Amino acid sequence: MIGYVCKYTPIEIFGALGVETKRIEPDVTNFDQADTLMHPNMCSYTKAVLEDVTAHDYEGIILTTCCDSIRRLYDVLKEHFPDKFIYLLDVPRKVNEFSTKLYEKYILEMVTEYEQYTGKHFDEEELYQYLKNMKREPKEEKEQGIKVGIMGARLSQGVLKMIERTGVEIVFNLSCTGLSREFTVDSKKVLDSYTSALLNQFPCMRMQKAANRENYLEGMENEVDGIIYHTVKFCDNYSYEYAHIKELFHKPILKIETDYTKQCAGQIRTRVEAFVESLTVSKNLSRKRKKRNTAGGESMYVLGIDSGSTSTNAVILNEKKEIVAFDVVRTGAKSGESAERILHSVLEKANLKREDIDTIISTGYGRVSIPFADENVTEISCHGKGANYCNPKVRTILDIGGQDSKVIKLNEKGEVIDFVMNDKCAAGTGRFLEMMARTLEIDISELGPISLDWKEDITISSMCSVFAESEVISLIALNKEKCDIAHGIHKAIAAKAFSLLKRVGLEGEFMMTGGVAKNPGVVKAVEEKIQDKLFIAKEPEIVGALGAALYALD
Ligand code: SF4
Ligand code: SF4
Repeated sequence: MIGYVCKYTPIEIFGALGVETKRIEPDVTNFDQADTLMHPNMCSYTKAVLEDVTAHDYEGIILTTCCDSIRRLYDVLKEHFPDKFIYLLDVPRKVNEFSTKLYEKYILEMVTEYEQYTGKHFDEEELYQYLKNMKREPKEEKEQGIKVGIMGARLSQGVLKMIERTGVEIVFNLSCTGLSREFTVDSKKVLDSYTSALLNQFPCMRMQKAANRENYLEGMENEVDGIIYHTVKFCDNYSYEYAHIKELFHKPILKIETDYTKQCAGQIRTRVEAFVESLTVSKNLSRKRKKRNTAGGESMYVLGIDSGSTSTNAVILNEKKEIVAFDVVRTGAKSGESAERILHSVLEKANLKREDIDTIISTGYGRVSIPFADENVTEISCHGKGANYCNPKVRTILDIGGQDSKVIKLNEKGEVIDFVMNDKCAAGTGRFLEMMARTLEIDISELGPISLDWKEDITISSMCSVFAESEVISLIALNKEKCDIAHGIHKAIAAKAFSLLKRVGLEGEFMMTGGVAKNPGVVKAVEEKIQDKLFIAKEPEIVGALGAALYALD
């Protein structure tokens, strides 16, 4: 089997030769091999391809002169797999008569090399027959719902399936892995017309005709409810197009960045689902709920459960939207087990049995691992709903959780209209504070109160948890007071939160949710940054679970 990466690869030629081809769609756990053989700052896709090729038995790999990362990948593959057919095909950046001829020549050179490598023989007539017999994929009709378009860098099948599972209709997928291969060729000039069709596909960002991409969008704006724009970590080709598209396009846009590792799947799912949920709200499509058990005039109870990385929180509401009971437990190693624990404890507090609960909605990172939940909703939507319940004047929510922080913007009806998440590392999260408290050898609960007594204004310049920890260790060595260091740590958290807040616009009233909202030092530092007050609910940790319970009542 021949592996390939680019839509300009003439895979139909290999098909005509009877050779199976596969677009490389890596889904790797880490970059152990790639970080040894390549510079760590290479785009994640190329590193993942290297991991994939190392783990599988390809006969050969066809790369194109897409970008510097791919050229470097070619060098490494060529050196490490001398027995495989590793080929770098030069794809012209311009599309005109001359470049079509040139590309045809390059393709023929590749074919000749492959013929020498295998002893097979290419025949133009066989290519014609192969193209003629290619099956056209029928377009699936979807019921009236949310319509999205996909743009940006190559999107893996895994992320594409994740988007499809939300039930949206994908009206177009203009990423370089999204277009179907349907080529009409002239039987008298097979290779010539095939090459021309290959080069005239919807241009990717690397082609000189990339400006046409926005013209295409102009006509499609009214066809979709929103755009999902995908970039790959360390890809230089696509990162800047997003800013341009955002200015040009007047519908909601979600930007997601993946690194082709399994680890980013949970975060991407939350972003995509929250985006689809916000489009659903703005399109006034109601969610399907099971029929409620309210016959006989009995009280009805619903349960919201928020399974986060640090704590699992639960809230029981009655039909009057009154909180009957709530609880907070540590999540521990298995989110399913902590969910079972909290189910029992919160039912006990409410003096209810499992069968008294009409509907259970789960939210948070572990929301899909709770088998007894009837449905799950993202923490973005749940925090929005919970915050609106606590204070309907709130327009901007800052939620600092154990492993991510997010800012959610609400409209006057309490609906999510925008959100941003910082989930790439522990910087600016509860985990960062835990690490810093450990370094200062104090309990996390002391960090906030002691920081309020600061005297010397210390600035922690690094937000990376690892570097910040070294900085704190140096400050301890310099005999700096713990209260001053703690104040510096909180200022660093506030600076990170402020940059997120600015991305959705600084519209008051502001609210802070999540366990970190119980830290008075962080609250004060954020208030100083935004020059406004933060509304803090009596139990800021349960706002997400409260929102989930409110969804269960809808
Ligand atoms: S960006 Fe263009 S040249 Fe690069 S892999 Fe995608 S389609 Fe091919
Ligand atoms: S994701 Fe970007 S940098 Fe990586 S191979 Fe594709 S175009 Fe090149």
